[in-house]
Amino acid sequence: MKKHNFNAGPSILPREVIEKTAQAVLDFNGSGLSVLEISHRSKDFEVVMNETVALFKELLNIPEGYSVLFLGGGASMQFCMIPFNLFEKKAAFLNTGVWANKAMKEAKGFGEVVEVASSKDANYTFIPKDYVIPTDADYFHITTNNTIYGTEILTDIDSPVPLIADMSSDIFSRPMDVSKYGLIYGGAQKNLAPAGLTFVIVKDELLGKVSRYIPTMLNYKTHIADGSMFNTPPVLPIYSALETLRLLKANGGLAEMEKRNIAKAELLYNAIDNSKIFVGTAAKEDRSRMNICFVMKPEYKELEADFQKFASERGMVGIKGHRSVGGFRASTYNALPIESVQALVDCMQEFEKLKA
Ligand code: PMP
Repeated sequence: MKKHNFNAGPSILPREVIEKTAQAVLDFNGSGLSVLEISHRSKDFEVVMNETVALFKELLNIPEGYSVLFLGGGASMQFCMIPFNLFEKKAAFLNTGVWANKAMKEAKGFGEVVEVASSKDANYTFIPKDYVIPTDADYFHITTNNTIYGTEILTDIDSPVPLIADMSSDIFSRPMDVSKYGLIYGGAQKNLAPAGLTFVIVKDELLGKVSRYIPTMLNYKTHIADGSMFNTPPVLPIYSALETLRLLKANGGLAEMEKRNIAKAELLYNAIDNSKIFVGTAAKEDRSRMNICFVMKPEYKELEADFQKFASERGMVGIKGHRSVGGFRASTYNALPIESVQALVDCMQEFEKLKA
């Protein structure tokens, strides 16, 4: 039976990327060696690193004056690495969920943290809009896509202070204006590569301004100076990222990706909105194109386990919602084909016909 992979992360990657990665593991560039057993400083790998950085810059249209880094430690390491490098007195945060809270928790160890707005009281079902960013903050931090709650900030907002964005779960899903951001970061394990790789896009002029000592490994300048080769980078995920980016470019880049992502999201949200038994959890104006969360209406609540079973018998994988939201979450990342969304919609409609 065909599996439809709606996992939230690590999650679906293009089949072609997995095959190319497998090939490089067996024999890298016809060298007779695996990509796993060559030096990250070898000529062959240098080419991989350079092309990956170049494609990041090209596909995201990154202006001059920004560096692209490939590090370890996950997005979670950035929760402390960012304040180490950029926090002098005060930082502002938009509280849109668990990941924003984790970023805030680490920043609190460095000084004053201002929460400009929060949707916590509504279990993070919307993105707060009426807030004021303090102009004396060192930076303003947002989470553009809230993987757990299925909300997303789809515009590149204007901020009077450097804007920092966790884009772990929506990078490369739409064209964006990088010039509006001071720093963009994320774990690569959704739209880009297998787990183990963290990307950071940072505006160089923001660095070198804080008064504290920054541990060498946590200093962005260390990694900029050594082209992400200060220590051994995660070579295999970088190789997969390169294949993902090559494919993205060949398929029309981010404008095409956004078109496909909108089509997939509309298909599923329409099915949810037209259903007698399912209902979406996120505010309509803030709905994510990457993580689509829905639950059973209260009068059908007891059918939840039944649907879970019904769907998994039809090949749906990873649709169980996060425990803090419940119900279902279908992650519709770049690599998920619209056929999989259609299969889920068919499954929901078939179930509804039987039960409601
Ligand atoms: N931020 C967001 C928005 C995420 O979805 C996740 C992981 N699901 C993280 C941060 C944490 O990433 P990592 O596991 O790479 O530390």
